[in-house]
Amino acid sequence: PIDMSKRFRLTLSLSLQAKMSRPVQARRLEGIDKNIWVELVKLAATYSKVNLGQGFPDFPAPDFLTEALTKALSGGNHMLHQYTRAFGHPPLVKVLAQFFEKLLGRDLDPMTNVMVTVGAYQALFCCFQALVDEGDEVIIIEPFFDCYEPMVKMAGGTPVFVPLRPTPPKDGKLMSSADWQLDPAELASKFSERTKAIVLNSPNNPLGKVFSHGELGLIAELCVKHDVLCISDEVYEWLVYDGKQHIRIASLQGMWDRTVIVGSAGKTFSVTGWKVGWVVGPDRLLQHLRTVHQNSVYHCATIAQEAMAQGFQRELTLYGKPESYFVQLPKELQQKRDWLIQSLIAVGMKPIVPEGTYFLVADISPFKSDVPDVPNSDEPYDYRFIKWMVKNKGLAAIPLSAFYSEAHKKNYTNFIRFCFAKEDATLKAANEILQKWKQEKTSS
Ligand code: PMP
Repeated sequence: PIDMSKRFRLTLSLSLQAKMSRPVQARRLEGIDKNIWVELVKLAATYSKVNLGQGFPDFPAPDFLTEALTKALSGGNHMLHQYTRAFGHPPLVKVLAQFFEKLLGRDLDPMTNVMVTVGAYQALFCCFQALVDEGDEVIIIEPFFDCYEPMVKMAGGTPVFVPLRPTPPKDGKLMSSADWQLDPAELASKFSERTKAIVLNSPNNPLGKVFSHGELGLIAELCVKHDVLCISDEVYEWLVYDGKQHIRIASLQGMWDRTVIVGSAGKTFSVTGWKVGWVVGPDRLLQHLRTVHQNSVYHCATIAQEAMAQGFQRELTLYGKPESYFVQLPKELQQKRDWLIQSLIAVGMKPIVPEGTYFLVADISPFKSDVPDVPNSDEPYDYRFIKWMVKNKGLAAIPLSAFYSEAHKKNYTNFIRFCFAKEDATLKAANEILQKWKQEKTSS
């Protein structure tokens, strides 16, 4: 006689096995599941006394914004707790349109030329999902904000990398982020009929490079010649130093119709936790971003958008005036930048003076003999240096090679990135660590 219960158990276990052997994850996640931030954030949280790694301010948000948020919360308009327009709360898209009309010198329709997103992150995600197809190539300038690569891949596209190449100044001066340049012939060689878009990030994270008019002109010329779109990540647009100007590539000839400008309230108003971002561009591109937005997040927090609209209204009234936050913040950050540069020089690092952003990259090649080699490890020097520095000195930063493609990482392992959007007390604590380190070096 057949043992039915045994047979049933066998069938059940076979069907369970069959189910468990099937991959659960979608193919689009292949090769993008590793993320260095997880490890580095954990490392910093465990060992660091001072964290100059991740890019966010530890100083308070401006009072006028927190007041606007409080007013939005308790000002009696209970509808601010409900959904608003999916593509952006009307007061915010209206004031953003007015602001960008001023910056770009063209008329904008708040309903079709502006969309509010969940931070610049979602703005970028919408760009890649809406504009990049299977097989399309997307040019990414290295070093790059690390999410561009997985986002292009998730859309089915192929990233094509082109590095900014450093030329050390001959006169023994400190290097500047302006000394990192594209090779025009190399850049041109990356454009082909397969190229759908180029990602431009000026001011650039991590280097702090602010692309010059000439450099933007070169990129624009190639975009027009090859009918290529430009995803222009300008989240650090107000953080520009030493009297430099941030130039918007969309204002160059032939570029408005092919450019999406990406912005972030987090960076603009020092409120990274609010996660309010935006895109500005022609309707022919934005209509497709709206489709992605509509079918993914659909909507961003109404109350944060309401408060942000008040913040932009204030900045519009104070445009260019000394009281403007967009004037004050870079002034303060420039002092912090210069302070950190001096502290890093004292310990023997060679900072690259950033023209913009709140990041600073420093050359750590003089420390090779301090950091123990790990036999049989292919871990790059900058990663090993960061781990050593966090554990032994209590100071956290980010390895620069994390901002390069796999193929080019090995050429850029002598640098680390610091964030200087920090309270003076935090920078003072960092300075104390560096001074102590310097004394240890001189006495050993
Ligand atoms: N682009 C760049 C270049 C960034 O540095 C960041 C944040 N680190 C973002 C986009 C994302 O901005 P948000 O926090 O508004 O999503």
